[in-house]
Amino acid sequence: MSDDRYIYDLSDGDASMKNLLGGKGAGVAEMNKVGVPVPDAFTVTTTACVETMNNGGQWPEGLDTQIAEGLARLEERTGRKLGAAEKPLLVSVRSGAVFSMPGMMDTILNLGMSDDSVMALAEEFGNERFAWDCYRRFIQMYGEVVESIPGHLYEDALSELKHARGVENDTDLTAADLKELVGSFKEISNEALGGEWTSDPREQLNRAVNAVFKSWGNPRAEVYRRANNIPASLGTAVNIMQMVFGNRGDTSATGVCFTRDPSTGEKALYGEFLVNAQGEDVVAGIRTPRPLAEMQEVLPEAYQQLIDTMHKMEQHYRDMQDMEFTVEDGHLYLLQTRNGKRTAAAALKVASDLVDEGVISKEEALLRIEPAQLDQLLHPAIDPNHGKQSIATGLPASPGAAVGEVVFDADTAAERGERGEPVVLVRFETTPDDIHGVIVAQGILTAHGGMTSHAAVVARGMGKPCVAGAAGIKIDPVAKTLTIGDRVLNEGDVVTLDGTTGQVYGEALDLIPPQINEDFTRLVEWADGVRRLGVRANADNFDDASKARELGAEGIGLCRTEHMFMAQDRLPAVRKMILAENADQRAAALAEILPMQQVDFEGIFTAMKGLPVTVRLLDPPLHEFLPNLVEQSLLVQRLELQGGDATALAEARQTLAQVKKLHELNPMLGTRGVRLAMLYPEIPDMQARAIVRAALAVLDREGETVGVEIMIPLVALSQELDTQRQIVVAAVEDELAKAGRQLDYTVGTMIELPRAALVADQIAKYADFFSFGTNDLTQTAIGISRDDAENGFLTTYVMERVLERNPFESIDVDGVGALVEIGVEKGRSVKPGLKTGVCGEHGGDPDSITFFNSAGLDYVSCSPFRVPIARFAAARAVLNQG
Ligand code: PEP
Ligand code: MG
Repeated sequence: MSDDRYIYDLSDGDASMKNLLGGKGAGVAEMNKVGVPVPDAFTVTTTACVETMNNGGQWPEGLDTQIAEGLARLEERTGRKLGAAEKPLLVSVRSGAVFSMPGMMDTILNLGMSDDSVMALAEEFGNERFAWDCYRRFIQMYGEVVESIPGHLYEDALSELKHARGVENDTDLTAADLKELVGSFKEISNEALGGEWTSDPREQLNRAVNAVFKSWGNPRAEVYRRANNIPASLGTAVNIMQMVFGNRGDTSATGVCFTRDPSTGEKALYGEFLVNAQGEDVVAGIRTPRPLAEMQEVLPEAYQQLIDTMHKMEQHYRDMQDMEFTVEDGHLYLLQTRNGKRTAAAALKVASDLVDEGVISKEEALLRIEPAQLDQLLHPAIDPNHGKQSIATGLPASPGAAVGEVVFDADTAAERGERGEPVVLVRFETTPDDIHGVIVAQGILTAHGGMTSHAAVVARGMGKPCVAGAAGIKIDPVAKTLTIGDRVLNEGDVVTLDGTTGQVYGEALDLIPPQINEDFTRLVEWADGVRRLGVRANADNFDDASKARELGAEGIGLCRTEHMFMAQDRLPAVRKMILAENADQRAAALAEILPMQQVDFEGIFTAMKGLPVTVRLLDPPLHEFLPNLVEQSLLVQRLELQGGDATALAEARQTLAQVKKLHELNPMLGTRGVRLAMLYPEIPDMQARAIVRAALAVLDREGETVGVEIMIPLVALSQELDTQRQIVVAAVEDELAKAGRQLDYTVGTMIELPRAALVADQIAKYADFFSFGTNDLTQTAIGISRDDAENGFLTTYVMERVLERNPFESIDVDGVGALVEIGVEKGRSVKPGLKTGVCGEHGGDPDSITFFNSAGLDYVSCSPFRVPIARFAAARAVLNQG
């Protein structure tokens, strides 16, 4: 007999036991501890689920006995017996993961309903109809969830009966009707299972627990976990709780509430309830619920008790709570409380207000903000000057605006969304099965369900615009049409959703970038007071640099100069430079390019005056500026066949010869970066001169200029940097001497090849700073192509968890991260205090930022819109370090 403990009674748990009891189990235990009314319960631990999964579905030894004992104790405490003919105990069997996964796993309600208990329940509650209604609901739920019997078999039988009785609503069926329905449902179950239907409630309980374990591995739960980075190894707990009934009549109800508005963060009453309804009716969005405020009139005492409890739980957890409750015959019970999911705007407001209310500290407030969530605030909204009429209105379920083509099922949404096509998923209501479509859609529109419906909760968590419960729309998923009045939209027609107001427009509207409010500014400033890492931006033009500065960038960590070469009006001069036959010709072409480069730099330097700007010299291989090899060959062929213009043909041939000469099979590992500058020293010379001239021009014009940092890319050998540094310094000094001016500047290098990291001590001799290019470093350290891998095996690796995260998105700490650490350490062994930063995409990823903080870098640099996220993430990295 195993000593392991798999069962905890309600009074044995508390909030600290979340890993073992799941969020729900620990939550109800804690509520019980502080005197909030919750139904009695016991919890099967996550360990039991994990051991079952690891053991091929076999329960660990002793689990069945422990469940039986847990049940016996519950029966003892409640004075009831599961499925008994007198004082029957009915329970719910609910999943409860460590991190909440709303609706992704299975639940069974009313377990304990049996031929024996049904009449006892009827007598006890004085309501025969109610008892038969519970019984038929149970058979269906148990059949579907535990025995995988298709739900439509039960639905069809229900529809047939309603038809036969000539009624429209379920509520119009009588006790006798429902009794008959129970008979049909039992037959359906029996038939589907070949006579194997078990009617023993104890056996049913074990099977229900097992079904919940299994639901941890169902596809929608997997998709949700992947999207939210929840480890698959955690498993779910199972909560077995005495049923309380929100469907006992007009003095009963069920609902959900938030202690603050989860969309805005306002301290306002927020929630929904349904009189005479059970459990999932509210969250599933099957009946449209009523606003919580109306409960005051209907159930005044329970309402007041609920308000008091909401306040008590918010103070207790010191955070906004999302709660589920049931009122049974006037008595309030809380079924769940958890920290409420919220929009980024609400997260900021709640955190900021809780600081003002003296509930939490500023540091705690920062830890409440999930940096990645701030993305939502940086989402576009509809341009208010559109002057268009909306065609439908629903609930503003998740803020932000989305434009996309209408699709009617999650598979199509997933397929098209993954191809990068903007789609809006339109459903009667979403269910957890739609999750793969929801993830890639621009926005979600549903015809049914409230602010706490599945679509609303999931979309809000993802920061995706959602309009829910748009009652005026009719969806035909077979014909693939959306009808609003006499307007019919087909699949592929474009709509715009405004998740902030609930409006739907029948055309594409212009979107504008979002505004950043006071709470945002306030919290970001607190973050600035805490963080150690500097935050710069990657920008290579005036507009991006200005935006970056507005969002708080403290300089530019990477100004890529190749984009300046690619501008259409510059390509002829650039091509002339590439096609030059000797140094003189090349110098002449570069002289044409220099003033253009200077203009660009002046723009960037003006936007960033007073701050440092790292300009990286030309990186990509030259063939990128020339036509494609195949296209050029075809052009030559065509001109040859036409036999016309001889000059055009000669030019085309010369270009083709050059394209062939520069053609490389592995250009990313070829003549690019510093290698190019080693072959054509005129290029770094020209770029250095353009930088100096621009810096001086801005100084003259603005009275202030930038901290000039010139950076050499793709260095692997210290000799490369030695040579390039000399070229750059000579050019800069020559320019300054000619102008009779002085300017502070530094020359550094990117560390983006494994060898560079490994010999960083040799390289540091010639570098004033290092900037880690973790894009190329990831490519070359792991040996995966940054251009191709994400379209191929890498996706499978992430799906199958060979890799936890895409290493181009979040740094591979063990491998690429180790190279960064070696680079920093070796560089500083030669030059203590050597300035180090990172400018790969990882510079804007919160998890990577945590690593860069601990690796001792001085700053991160990321795209302008990620600057605020990086500022938060950098502060959290410090706070989490403890
Ligand atoms: C890098 O390699 O990380 C980098 C920033 O340079 P690029 O992406 O331009 O190659
Ligand atoms: Mg690079």
